[in-house]
Amino acid sequence: MKPRRLGPYSLLRSLFAARKGDVRAMEDVYHLRGVMTVAAMVFATVGLPGLMLVYYGIVGIRSDELALAADVRRRSEAAAAEFKADLEATFVQFQNAALSRLTSGQSVYTGQRELEDSLRVVFRFDADGKLEPPFLPSSVDQLEDQQFLLFDTWQEASAAEREGRWDRAAGLYAQAARVTHSRRDRARCLYNRARALDRAGQSREAEAIWQQEIEELGRDLYGFRIGDLARLELAESRLKRDPAGGQEDLRGLADALLTDNWEIGRGGEAAVARRAIELLPSSDWTARARGRVDERSSQLYWAERLQPELDSLGAKGRLLRAGAGDFVYLKTDSALWAMTWTDSDQYAFGLEFNRLLARERLAAAAVGGPDGDIRAALVEPSASTTADVLARASLAPWLPDWSVAVGARDPEGLAAQQTDQRRRGIGVILISIAMIALGLVLSTRFVRRELEAARDKSDFAAHVSHELRSPITQIRLKAEALQLGLATDDVARTRHYDVIVRESERLSRLVDNILDFAAIEKGKKKYTFRIGDVGLTVARCVEQAGVAMETKGMKIDFELPDDLPVIWHDADAVSQVMINLLSNAAKYGQQAAWIGVKVYVREGATGPEICVDVSDRGIGIAGTEQKAVFDQYYRSTDPLARSKKGTGIGLTIVRYIMEAHGGRVGIESAPGVGSTFTLHFPLSFVPPSGQGT
Ligand code: ADP
Repeated sequence: MKPRRLGPYSLLRSLFAARKGDVRAMEDVYHLRGVMTVAAMVFATVGLPGLMLVYYGIVGIRSDELALAADVRRRSEAAAAEFKADLEATFVQFQNAALSRLTSGQSVYTGQRELEDSLRVVFRFDADGKLEPPFLPSSVDQLEDQQFLLFDTWQEASAAEREGRWDRAAGLYAQAARVTHSRRDRARCLYNRARALDRAGQSREAEAIWQQEIEELGRDLYGFRIGDLARLELAESRLKRDPAGGQEDLRGLADALLTDNWEIGRGGEAAVARRAIELLPSSDWTARARGRVDERSSQLYWAERLQPELDSLGAKGRLLRAGAGDFVYLKTDSALWAMTWTDSDQYAFGLEFNRLLARERLAAAAVGGPDGDIRAALVEPSASTTADVLARASLAPWLPDWSVAVGARDPEGLAAQQTDQRRRGIGVILISIAMIALGLVLSTRFVRRELEAARDKSDFAAHVSHELRSPITQIRLKAEALQLGLATDDVARTRHYDVIVRESERLSRLVDNILDFAAIEKGKKKYTFRIGDVGLTVARCVEQAGVAMETKGMKIDFELPDDLPVIWHDADAVSQVMINLLSNAAKYGQQAAWIGVKVYVREGATGPEICVDVSDRGIGIAGTEQKAVFDQYYRSTDPLARSKKGTGIGLTIVRYIMEAHGGRVGIESAPGVGSTFTLHFPLSFVPPSGQGT
């Protein structure tokens, strides 16, 4: 394993190293002081920021939630206030327009819609609360109507008229006129007689009656002023003779009717005026006049509808009287009365309350826009405020029984939004904590690994010195013995030379390993691949090792098939691999004194491969350590293995060299039973360009 150079760790390491001045001292971390230091650092760099993150995260989430609710509430309040202000502005505008008409002497009875859309009628009262023109109380006497209906001659005349017997009808109407005591009935009889005469062809007589009697005539049963009907008939007959004159009469009649005072409950004037206008060729004048007639009809309709409130209105007006130009609002069953005063008169502007309400309801529905998150509605004060109403404003005095209530359009949605926001916030906090924890775990692991690596390195230095010392001592002892002539006979001398040769070989193997390892670690190891028989290389190594081992009483079983395929390999590197494996087998093979080497071809996972098994019946390796033995500087924790000298780089070199051959090294081992290391050389391996010869 290559040492990792991590920024944060290097920092940490230099911190420790600087304080202790010795890499080995880093082991202190495993002691209490070291643990305390690390704990304090972890707390300062991770724990405290983590706690702050959680604290401020929760505070943030809560305040976001509150802000969301507060924002909706604030906008609801603003919308309620704005709604009320808009309503007030509408009424102020109406008041100003009404006052300016009153003070400038313009009519408040025409063009009412321009004053206010829901304005239906305007009444004027005198200082005593009595209704003033143009509206007048109805003058119709119900009893008189009844009597009239029972009048036989009239009935007979009407029947004759229906049958087209005009002469007879004219006679009967004359008779009825003479008999009746009622001034109004007489007028109606005369009018009808003239009409019958007119139809009978005696138009001159008819016109004479109409002209003479006109001023005398009153109102008929249906509320028509008979004089008006007579004028209409006259103008109509003149139209036939003299169109210009007739039109002038009709226009005069309509004008007069529209400027006359209006008796409440009587629509006759409007009907006659409408008829007069219909007889005229259409023009701007007729269009305008028709508009005025419509307006007047509507006013009369509303005046009649609101008649029950009229008396009390006059009286209340006196009670409520405010300064000239001030407005007081009064809500009755069907209308909202806007009352104001001039020096002498009291005006009551009757606004159709339901229409006003409908309009403001529409306006309320538009508050917040179609997609907005707030919603407004008009509610009666009796309506209990529901939880989703966030702001409420009374709309008195204009809609006195009503207020506008504003709240979240979708309270559940708002709550869901808050929950979402909370979930997101908590999610972010949890992810951050998880990442901090992960970072902590990873960096702890890195730190531990690096510490271990540092310790391994220092162990390695110690092991190497140890490994070097023993052959050097042996060589030196034997050489000195020879120099001093202590070996007296040839046998002794030969033994001394053997020791010197064996220990020199061991020394050179050790140096080779160290140099190789250094080259591998730097990534600078050079390979020279050639196509050849790897079995031969293996055999040469087995042979070399065998000579040395036989002297120690060890036996090597070697199996090599004849027809081994040739492969690309670096013979020196493979020798190095074999020497390492064989010396390990010898070293850890214990008393068994047996080593098995077997070369064979088999079908591997990636294709055919040549395998070399190196087996021993020694101490074996625990399953948990089988992977680690290939790590650099790793030496087993097993005391038996530890008792042997070693540097912990032999198997690392094996692994790297096998990888360079596109293969791998496998291990099968059981403690106390023995180990088999298997080299896998894939036949398909082709060296990288430039490395094969
Ligand atoms: P060393 O110089 O310690 O032998 P190696 O890299 O060759 O280093 O081996 C690493 C470790 O693997 C050894 O320390 C030993 O514990 C274990 N090991 C290697 N070969 C064998 C084996 N044949 N039997 C048992 N243990 C072995």
